[in-house]
Amino acid sequence: RSIYDVTVVGSGNWGSVAAKLIASNTLKLSSFHDEVRMWVFEETLPSGEKLTEVINKTNENVKYLPGIKLGKNVVADPDLENAVRDATMLVFVTPHQFMEGICKRLVGKIRSDAEAISLIKGMEVKRDGPRMISSLISEHLGINCCVLMGANIANEIALEQFSEATVGYRKNKEIADKWVKLFHTSYFMVSCVQDVEGVELCGTLKNVMKALSKLLFPSVKDTTFFESCGVADLITTCCKYNQCIYVLNGTNYSPIITNKQACRSLVGGRNRRCAEAFAKNGGKRSFDELETEMLQGQKLQGVSTAKEVHEVLSHRGWLEQFPLFSTVHEICCGRLPPNAIVVYSEQTPDQS
Ligand code: NAD
Ligand code: 13P
Repeated sequence: RSIYDVTVVGSGNWGSVAAKLIASNTLKLSSFHDEVRMWVFEETLPSGEKLTEVINKTNENVKYLPGIKLGKNVVADPDLENAVRDATMLVFVTPHQFMEGICKRLVGKIRSDAEAISLIKGMEVKRDGPRMISSLISEHLGINCCVLMGANIANEIALEQFSEATVGYRKNKEIADKWVKLFHTSYFMVSCVQDVEGVELCGTLKNVMKALSKLLFPSVKDTTFFESCGVADLITTCCKYNQCIYVLNGTNYSPIITNKQACRSLVGGRNRRCAEAFAKNGGKRSFDELETEMLQGQKLQGVSTAKEVHEVLSHRGWLEQFPLFSTVHEICCGRLPPNAIVVYSEQTPDQS
């Protein structure tokens, strides 16, 4: 019977939490080796120390997930090729803009029987159209790639607050079940569906346009939008306080806070936080500035995805069919003020 070796490629906010989740399971499950290798894009901290050395010394990613112990069986490795060499299960979790370069470096460097999963939201846009990150991985590395997306914010999972995810797989349910086993915990509920593109597009487009997902990939299933990666992730991504239950009070939803401590320390996702700051400043401070100041090295996915979607729509001549996306892109790059979205929604019938 095989015992699987797991490597996490990426060590940002979600990457570090994914390593923690996985490491808690490999210790319990006999089908996985205990040690989880985590590739770190090396950097020097203000103290002069290397991030990798500090992670291995303190068991904490002090830059991207401070205050959380990852588990002693997580080993940080700054050498990408070394980190993936023996892995039979590869978990990709970096900001999407770095993945093409990473895949090119990994050609011929991984085991031919390795399986991959992508936790990455975003897409690549080439002349011939959009390419999802799972396809980028499969095409460059010649391996099967599942995806995992869902109603989850890394900082909340780090605190072991209840969250969920959906694994999307192509053909082989046994492989999907193996990924579910590797990620599922009492506070992180994972299920799987046979729809890689549907799950990945839900995560990437934050589920705002079912019509666009189906136009890009007609195989996308309607039912996928009702999995965790669908509407639940949309709500999670937009909420300030996820540890709340929302009750209908007249025509408004108001929150009942179920976990006061969590609500004080957590303010939802990064895209939501930066978008709030952007709108409060009337768009005077750019998303680039806000990303640098508020996220301290972490990356915003939404702004680049808005640009990439705009490029796809314009290549295909679909801009008029999806005016909401154009408005969002124009706001993100400062050509329209933030309140253009309100004007848009007051004047435009529902197009979802
Ligand atoms: P992050 O935003 O914390 O990104 C920072 C990471 O990028 C760091 O590890 C940094 O070292 C690395 N990096 C910087 N420059 C690099 C380079 N040139 N090459 C390679 N790496 C470089 O990352 P994250 O939160 O782990 O997000 C990874 C993916 O997971 C994204 O697609 C994100 O949308 C998705 N995601 C995040 C969350 C979340 O709550 N954080 C939840 C679900 C999905
Ligand atoms: P942020 O990157 O905005 O924190 O969103 C996390 C996410 O993708 C929730 O599913």
